[in-house]
Amino acid sequence: MKKRCGISACLLGLACRYDGCALPPERRPVLSPDVEWIPFCPEQLGGLPTPRTPAELDGGDGFDLLDGRAAITDREGRDLTGAFLRGANETLLLCRCLRVEEVLLKANSPSCGVGKIYRGDELVDGYGVTAALLARHGLSLRVH
Ligand code: SF4
Repeated sequence: MKKRCGISACLLGLACRYDGCALPPERRPVLSPDVEWIPFCPEQLGGLPTPRTPAELDGGDGFDLLDGRAAITDREGRDLTGAFLRGANETLLLCRCLRVEEVLLKANSPSCGVGKIYRGDELVDGYGVTAALLARHGLSLRVH
């Protein structure tokens, strides 16, 4: 039986990004055929539309948001904290249902980023909301 891993859906080329465009092929990872890849997009799972207004974490990173110390707002000032939390929880549920213990996440995203996230046009240290929740529940995270 193949090993099963989760993957940010945009890394497969699905057009789920905020701008509604697919990631160009040269920016996608080369995926092992020995793995069964399970795609998810936490922002869509949280009920957000595609395309959507870009959003960023405010007051901390994904771990801070899980602990109630940060929020996430889009560029029009709407508070999307609930949608991002819902998407993170749905992703965790999917991983648990399908016995996924390792995920490959899209770098720098306010949902999927691992170690670095965008704040404005700047990259700062931190985790996205879904990445933080999955890490907190013991999943192994890789980033591309
Ligand atoms: Fe969806 Fe994550 Fe890709 Fe953003 S980075 S489009 S939330 S899968």
